[in-house]
Amino acid sequence: MKVGIIGAGAAGTSAAKTLQASRVDIEVDLFTRSGEQPYNRTLVNKGVAIGLLEPVQTALPAAGVETIADTVRGIDPRSRDVHLDSGQSRTYDALIIASGSRPWTLDETILGRDQALSAGRLTALHSIADAIRVRDLLATTHPARVLMLGGGLVASETASLLTDAGHDVALITRSLLPGARALGEETARSLLNLHLPQHAAYLGRTPTAIRTHADRITVVLDDGPRAEGDLAIVAHGTVPTAPAPWSGPEGIAVDSRMRLMVAPRQRIYAAGGVAVHHYPRHGSYRVDHWDDSVAQGIHAARTLLHDVGQADDPGIYLPSSAFSARIHGHTLTGVGHPALGTSTRLVSTDPLLTAHYLGDIPVALTGIDAASLVRDWIPRLHQRAPIRS
Ligand SMILES: Cc1cc2nc3c(=O)[nH]c(=O)nc-3n(C[C@H](O)[C@H](O)[C@H](O)COP(=O)(O)OP(=O)(O)OC[C@H]3O[C@@H](n4cnc5c(N)ncnc54)[C@H](O)[C@@H]3O)c2cc1C
Repeated sequence: MKVGIIGAGAAGTSAAKTLQASRVDIEVDLFTRSGEQPYNRTLVNKGVAIGLLEPVQTALPAAGVETIADTVRGIDPRSRDVHLDSGQSRTYDALIIASGSRPWTLDETILGRDQALSAGRLTALHSIADAIRVRDLLATTHPARVLMLGGGLVASETASLLTDAGHDVALITRSLLPGARALGEETARSLLNLHLPQHAAYLGRTPTAIRTHADRITVVLDDGPRAEGDLAIVAHGTVPTAPAPWSGPEGIAVDSRMRLMVAPRQRIYAAGGVAVHHYPRHGSYRVDHWDDSVAQGIHAARTLLHDVGQADDPGIYLPSSAFSARIHGHTLTGVGHPALGTSTRLVSTDPLLTAHYLGDIPVALTGIDAASLVRDWIPRLHQRAPIRS
């Protein structure tokens, strides 16, 4: 049996390792983009952008299968052919799509956006190439004035890292309470309180124009204020990315076992930042965190093994992995997918821990400096009745 895995990041490599470890006679091809060595994306900001690691040090350990650096341009789901950048095509008995996400960019209607991008003074921070751009600019300007557009985890963590490195970071966020939707209001408010003593903050503002000068950049915000810096980083979250026919921003809808939703018998699976799931009796959701993507890759591989009669049914996938970020000396931790919750209950105020409920089922946790409480609570996630200790 021949399995193609598209994407050699968190989800793709964990799927490959799971198939390898099964000892079932399966030949695996693991695809990554042309010219790219598989790397750990979480080190883009924590390692390379701040000059702590060289790009080569972010390489992922070999997954024990053949890795092919040849971008997949398209998939023919009926014939199970994948068409590659090199012009070659390959056929598979099963496919796992784990091609991840790409960053949201600023809207093209923002005047001066393209000029700022091509001058290298406006960048995303998602790939190693982005990290090198940031690192090189910061190497010529110290301390640099950095405009951080966004208030999510990557923006918050990067703002903290750059402040620690002696740079002057201003936050520009579209929301008055950044992170509220993804983390819940209590956690988002505590996160904001960590930031406010450290940064100038333009909250509830949207950029309307960008002016690029020889030595700096000016971001014009709605209602008039201007923020000036040496560099602006856009960290507005991600959208799924996949080869055609799934090349739109909507991602790949999967069922509870991570099979392609529209054709669950086709032996096509999706995992990680590209996969759009459906929580039982609730709406759709997507998780773009490292450990959860690893867990999804394992789950997709187990479903595949089950579908070919080589393993038990792995059951419904429910997000229960942790993510964390170190921000101004504190650790923000989350588990599961907080945005799935429809109500938030305070578990503890000091340290802060909130549980996110969907009806009477806790589906996620967020907190600050609450690692051990979080560990105690993890077994309760997705359980209707509270577990008594
Ligand atoms: C700066 C930054 C910091 C982060 N820090 C954290 C953190 O601290 N903790 C955390 O939990 N999460 C963090 N994340 C999120 C985390 O990195 C992602 O959620 C995770 O990498 C998603 O895994 P994935 O396998 O879906 O995608 P990725 O790890 O991005 O892997 C996708 C793979 O697909 C390949 N690919 C894409 N398209 C094609 C194609 N057409 N053909 C062939 N190959 C293709 C890529 O080359 C890559 O190998 C961070 C993200 C960023 C950008």
